[in-house]
Amino acid sequence: MAWFRNYYECARCDSKWTDDWSCMCDDDCRRCGARHMSPYKSDDLTEIIKSHGGTFVVLRSPDTAEHTPDYCEITTFSTHAQAQAYLKSVS
Ligand SMILES: [Zn+2]
Repeated sequence: MAWFRNYYECARCDSKWTDDWSCMCDDDCRRCGARHMSPYKSDDLTEIIKSHGGTFVVLRSPDTAEHTPDYCEITTFSTHAQAQAYLKSVS
């Protein structure tokens, strides 16, 4: 399952909000309740790099994730550049 952070802007009241979800789905405005706003932007958070005690951990949202990313540790690197290179090589 992929994991996304979706960015929304309400067409009716210009309110902005973000929501994390397993798809790029429509959402309702938190302020005025306008229905079915589509995200104008989405970040793919399926695989992320998290710094942890001087190392960089590559995390992936597994296929079983539904309502939370449920990240699993894939591997650890000593530099952020190495972790990025790894993600590039696997995607
Ligand atoms: Zn609104």
